[in-house]
Amino acid sequence: MPSIRALPDTLISQIAAGEVVERPASVVKELLENALDAGAQAIEVTLEQGGIKRIRINDDGGGIASEDLHLALARHATSKIATLDDLEAVRSLGFRGEALASIASVSRMNMVSRQAQAQHASGITAEGGPPGATEPAAHATGTTVEVADLYFNTPARRKFLKSEATEFAHCEDMVKRAALSRHDVAFSLRHNNRVVLHLPRHVEAEGDPRRRIEAILGAEFAQSMRPVDESGGGDNPLRLSGYAGAPSFSRSGRDLQFVFVNGRFVRDKVLTHALRQAYSDLMHGDRHPGYVLYLAIDPRAVDVNVHPSKIEVRFRDSRAIHQFVYHAVTKALSGNAAQTPVPSAAPMLSDAGWMQPRPSYGNAMPAYQPGLGGLGVAQPRGEYAAFVASARAAQTAAAVLPQAVQSVQDDAHPLGYALAQLHGIYILAQNALGLVLVDMHAAHERILYEKLKTSLDASAMQTQKLLVPAIFNADKLDMATAEEHAETLHALGFDVAPFSPTTLAVRAVPALLAGGDLAALARGILHDIREFGASRVITERQNELLSTMACHGAVRAHRALTQQEMNALLREMEETERSGQCNHGRPTWYQMSLTDLDKLFLRGR
Ligand code: ADP
Ligand code: MG
Repeated sequence: MPSIRALPDTLISQIAAGEVVERPASVVKELLENALDAGAQAIEVTLEQGGIKRIRINDDGGGIASEDLHLALARHATSKIATLDDLEAVRSLGFRGEALASIASVSRMNMVSRQAQAQHASGITAEGGPPGATEPAAHATGTTVEVADLYFNTPARRKFLKSEATEFAHCEDMVKRAALSRHDVAFSLRHNNRVVLHLPRHVEAEGDPRRRIEAILGAEFAQSMRPVDESGGGDNPLRLSGYAGAPSFSRSGRDLQFVFVNGRFVRDKVLTHALRQAYSDLMHGDRHPGYVLYLAIDPRAVDVNVHPSKIEVRFRDSRAIHQFVYHAVTKALSGNAAQTPVPSAAPMLSDAGWMQPRPSYGNAMPAYQPGLGGLGVAQPRGEYAAFVASARAAQTAAAVLPQAVQSVQDDAHPLGYALAQLHGIYILAQNALGLVLVDMHAAHERILYEKLKTSLDASAMQTQKLLVPAIFNADKLDMATAEEHAETLHALGFDVAPFSPTTLAVRAVPALLAGGDLAALARGILHDIREFGASRVITERQNELLSTMACHGAVRAHRALTQQEMNALLREMEETERSGQCNHGRPTWYQMSLTDLDKLFLRGR
């Protein structure tokens, strides 16, 4: 057994590099953090071969004093904290003082820097070991760090690198995160001499990251997103701001989810869970929303020193944070949030089809208000108010249009009046703006869902006994579930009991659902109880259960509706919170304005 000995510094850094410098993207992340900590207003990132060959990051920040340059590359040397107190209230992105040392130990690094008042710049070089002497160099105020041949001296690690394209994609992601965290800083990214990102700084935007978000997440997302801005926390002030994508804008992956805590990009279980819950009512389980959210919190209430990559955090009061975030986002999504401009996008001929969805109109509905709900009084506010305003403006314009349009003067009914039913699937309605298309099943489903939720929450599920029970063939599992969970079924407003050894009889159902396909409804409920467990269907799984109930209770396609029934549905949609989306996150209605229609027919006015 060899004797114990202290490891050389370079080897310690190489070991640490295993955690901090996983791949080129980690180098990009650390160097970007340093540039932002240095107060840069413009940052240029230049990559070659996915960052494997070369990473160069230039900033116009405060720079490093010539005499400190060698210290910057030393392990555990930092200018950002000095005491334990500082550590407990970190405001900078870096604080561990190990990134540059780690990177220098596994690459050929060159750093040139200049402080504003310095006579000239200074440079230093390290090649997989301790740095050489500091030498005079030419550079404007700020710093350039160049990292070449990553892992040139640790071939085992080099083997873990993926293709150039993959490594580049990870690097690009880091630049996007940094750019979303600070829209007041300009960023550019070049790869193999090609400009990939060019983002000007938005100082005039007064703290509103909208334009930066649009540049990075795309126009389609930006069109759908809703502003979030909520403050709270009492003694420990909290603020959540940013934008949450409409549920109609969903993705198969989580790639458009960005959460920043005090400017730091994080992946945190508490926050992710709160967000998933806020969307769970509105989006099908295998789809993912997009959002860019900024949580500002007292640095003492969050521990960022959990992992060397600093991507995980720990909240002192995670329950309070969870609630706060959940409520802020739920509020924004249910249309109660501050004004969002009504999108001007017109339906146009596109590759996808002949119409574009209008997701922002989706939630342009009054929020459900418990106090007024029974009266069915719609209170215009938020997006809804904007929608009503544009409907009114259209009415004024309509004064010169033919009779049919002028007759729609009732601005209490923004969805207008039914004209006809199309193929038993859609309702065509006329409102002041033009034509409204409603997916009748999806819309009814949404209305039922909200009503069921309200009655279940109030333990006031009204039951309707059936004159003639609905009998259906059931398999052994369904039979057993019905017998074992009679009580749960009761609580939900059902009476389902064995009728014969192979059939079940539905004798009572929630009054709201009495018009639906009762056998299918009962089967769906039994399936959910079995799948999620009797107690969970009324607690955690309540929303899934209500979706099942609403889906089976809603009018089926191909059922002919009378004019009166169609208008009643439109009125209920106007009163129901979130009626822009059915429970699976599909939109329930579209608006096509007269102008949109004119465009379709290339008809000038
Ligand atoms: P940390 O960021 O945790 O302090 P680093 O190893 O990343 O540790 O950097 C060490 C020190 O070098 C920093 O504390 C800072 O003083 C200095 N430094 C690094 N990069 C820059 C930069 N781009 N501009 C100014 N100073 C820098
Ligand atoms: Mg750092």
